[in-house]
Amino acid sequence: MYWEPKLESMSRADLEALQARRLLATVAQCRQSPFYAAALGGPGRAAPTLAELARLPFTTKEDLRGHFPYGFLTVPQRDLVRLHCSSGTTGNPTVVFHNAHDLASWANLVARSLYGVGARDTDVFQNICGYGLFTGGLGFQYGAERLGALTIPAGAGNSHRQIKLMQDFGTSVVHAIPSYLGRLHEVFGELGLDPRRDTRLRLLVIGAEPHSEETRRRIEALFGVKAFNSYGLSEMNGPGVAFECEYQTGLHLWEDCFIPEIVDPDTLEPVPVGERGELVLTTLDRQAMPILRYRTRDLTRFIPGDCPCGRTHRRIDRIVGRSDDMFIIKGCNVFPIQVEKVLMRVPEVGQDYLIVLHSAAGADEMTIEVELRPECFEGDFGALEQLRRRIAAQIRDEVMVTPQVKLVEPGKLPRSEGKAVRVRDERGAR
Ligand code: ADP
Ligand code: ZN
Repeated sequence: MYWEPKLESMSRADLEALQARRLLATVAQCRQSPFYAAALGGPGRAAPTLAELARLPFTTKEDLRGHFPYGFLTVPQRDLVRLHCSSGTTGNPTVVFHNAHDLASWANLVARSLYGVGARDTDVFQNICGYGLFTGGLGFQYGAERLGALTIPAGAGNSHRQIKLMQDFGTSVVHAIPSYLGRLHEVFGELGLDPRRDTRLRLLVIGAEPHSEETRRRIEALFGVKAFNSYGLSEMNGPGVAFECEYQTGLHLWEDCFIPEIVDPDTLEPVPVGERGELVLTTLDRQAMPILRYRTRDLTRFIPGDCPCGRTHRRIDRIVGRSDDMFIIKGCNVFPIQVEKVLMRVPEVGQDYLIVLHSAAGADEMTIEVELRPECFEGDFGALEQLRRRIAAQIRDEVMVTPQVKLVEPGKLPRSEGKAVRVRDERGAR
């Protein structure tokens, strides 16, 4: 059940000893880059032990942007074999370079993750996400190939073709962004097909954007298979940083290759185990562009205790969002995933929603446009009005702000090919 039994289940003491050795090597490697040569001080400074990690400086997205493109490189340019950029969800993209070792290490982590949820070399793996600069494409491609699966580089969009590929080749494992899977399921329906009956799908891998447990359960019901959460970010390679195991009780973060910390985003001090904060990551097996204490801005917590699967790598909880996904409305802090959680519990609600923040008569308002299943519009107006009120009340109970709720027909909300856009803030400059 393990891809690398020794590495995945080694004792905490051995794992930490491995981390300590790799941290020393990583810090020494970092000193080769212009950015860290300056940030770490001269070579005379003693290298830190694991316990002294907190002495090292944080690295932020702004640091990466400020030293674009080559300021973090620690190897000669001729050693580089690939670059990837982040999707640029929150501004200018950042670039990460890899040498051959880095790519092999990354592919191995993805293979390990896939193996851990039951994918095998006998599987047909269809990778439904953008290729090119986005790391989900090539990251899963090489990982699934490393596993030995027949890997279909399907790319994003074109649902008819996706379904045809699934049927022609007997796809058994799909990786996709959760917000796309609802759409894909609709197209199955339009074609008179049911993925539970008309495909050989046996498991799903979903990730790249925040989604609630309720959304996962829905996807699992629609496709009739388990959906496993995959977390990664391009600054830390991409997918294969943390992944659920078959127990679905949090994501094992691969601690032989990354050191995780969870800090209070304001004080930057570690939060007590089990409390939520910002995930900070240090690479331990990267040569071309090692990164120390990277502030991911992703909010999560360590899940205390051991996992029944026997892996010793600590688990993080599903990401609730980035610190900058949070918006403030009428004095309340809200994450889109809180709204999503409520909506996905309502059976009449379809796949999509959009939170619009706007000003009306001098006050801030939150309007939530909610897509309903088509059959809901066949009933009478009174029933719809009741549903509208019920949804508004449930959202108020969750986020403490009463929203306007607007019920819309399927397909009326804007769809994005990549990560879903959940919030439109029209409140203007403030
Ligand atoms: P960008 O930062 O421009 O979106 P990336 O493609 O590197 O570019 O995306 C990484 C980010 O995507 C993570 O920092 C996180 O915010 C989000 N993300 C990735 N996987 C997950 C997941 N399983 N759950 C929630 N958010 C995720
Ligand atoms: Zn586990």
